[in-house]
Amino acid sequence: MTAQPVTVEYDADLLPPEPGQTLLINGEWTSAEATFDVTDPATLEVIGRAADAGAAEAMAAFEAAVAAYDAWRAEPAESRAARLRAAVADIRARAESLARLLSIENGKPYAEAYGEILRGAAMLEWGAEEGRRIYGRVTQPSANGRGIVLTSPIGPALVITPWNFPASMLMRKIGLSLSAGSPVVAKPAEQTPLIAVAVTRLINEHLPPGVLNVVTTQRPAAVVDAIMADSRLRKITFTGSTEVGLMLARRPSAVLRRISLEMGGHSPAIVFPDADIETTATNIMLAKFPNAGQSCISINRLFLHRSIASELTTMLVERVGNLRLGRGLTEGVTTGPLIDFAGLDKVERHVTDAVSRGAKVLTGGKRWTPDDARLKGAFYEPTVLTNVDESMEIAHEETFGPVLPIYTFDDDDDVIERANNTTYGLAAYVFGSDFNRIWDAMERLEFGVIGVNDPLPNRPELPFGGFKNSGQGREGGTEGIEDYVETKAVAIKK
Ligand code: NAD
Repeated sequence: MTAQPVTVEYDADLLPPEPGQTLLINGEWTSAEATFDVTDPATLEVIGRAADAGAAEAMAAFEAAVAAYDAWRAEPAESRAARLRAAVADIRARAESLARLLSIENGKPYAEAYGEILRGAAMLEWGAEEGRRIYGRVTQPSANGRGIVLTSPIGPALVITPWNFPASMLMRKIGLSLSAGSPVVAKPAEQTPLIAVAVTRLINEHLPPGVLNVVTTQRPAAVVDAIMADSRLRKITFTGSTEVGLMLARRPSAVLRRISLEMGGHSPAIVFPDADIETTATNIMLAKFPNAGQSCISINRLFLHRSIASELTTMLVERVGNLRLGRGLTEGVTTGPLIDFAGLDKVERHVTDAVSRGAKVLTGGKRWTPDDARLKGAFYEPTVLTNVDESMEIAHEETFGPVLPIYTFDDDDDVIERANNTTYGLAAYVFGSDFNRIWDAMERLEFGVIGVNDPLPNRPELPFGGFKNSGQGREGGTEGIEDYVETKAVAIKK
């Protein structure tokens, strides 16, 4: 079979010179026996190739991380932070090129991709600095004397990232682990290895060999299983689906290790009657449609107070109707394709099920057929559904697509109970102006991240993570670094 030609519309110098040289092992970019094609999800054209690592390459990368550990943990925290800050400066300097590659590989509009690169750089910077602010303490003397709480790095870490925010998730995790003194093996998602390689190339320029390793593969289980079988692995940080995250967390291992999980979500957004309707419409658009709805904190259930439901729904339908589908690099495009046809099937299934149980499609509701023959990807029209109720699949499962289901409510207690009625607990949104009402909602919502009149609640200085099946552990804020630190209690007898 002849290989498909590669369409390169990004700056080729972002990637190693040889195609498929996408494994970073002990400071060298190398290849594996086999490669796999990386495609543009809008056109399905091949845009590059990545090394298809197996257990052997995974273990070579892991051995490099283990070998680098002693020297890296001994390096002063300030110096580790300085290296990472230098990497942040390089990423910011190349933000436009990186955003172009990210847009082509993931499908999101260029402006969103640019925002993701800058957000990722800010997260990397935050993580880099937090490594300097890890403290222990000295206890008051007891009858036996004083005690000391010492901290140490957790040890070599496996970083597993998803395709939907393939640059920022990687930067956030790498920043925390490296600044706290633990080398990394990063395993990016198979749909988006190139942006991971481009970002880690810039970071690695500032690091000693082996501190950061990257393993691309289309056989994630082979790579992850091999590394997880080694008891020298001290930490796993995973962002991805709840299904895979729970499977990794429940796996028996000879030695217990720390695992942070950021998984799926099913975000409710509650609009109280005193919300400013125009601003709230803008905020809902921002919390729902970026990345074609493929975000773990995307609104999945919009609860409108009955008194404003009709006015706000009309406004939203108009705005959703104005979204423009297409390829992320095309001027004016607001909504890209879904990552693949499996994702499209799920969106279609949710809409079909909802309609069969009485939901009404106010706009969208079907696959998009573009005029441009080059656009062969999995496009779905941005959709608004009303008459939605809890009997429908969409009320309980993460849709991961551009579909906005609208529910109405009359009573605050009722809406909080319905919002909490899910096995997920990542993000929730509250829109309104009555302080007491908002405060009450903030206290009672069982979610790790809450946006109050804020559609973008993921900030570097705040801890990010979920309740229930949305995950465990936090990244960001002062809490983020804690998952990368071990604690030693030292009792000193006087
Ligand atoms: P996924 O679970 O399929 O993949 C995530 C990562 O796990 C990828 O790197 C993949 O290669 C790897 N993986 C897949 N199967 C594996 C296996 N058997 N063993 C080991 N590793 C394996 O998820 P996805 O489809 O890439 O990402 C979408 C999901 O991620 C959504 O559910 C979304 O909500 C979630 N997500 C969560 C957050 C968060 O912070 N909570 C952020 C972004 C995405």
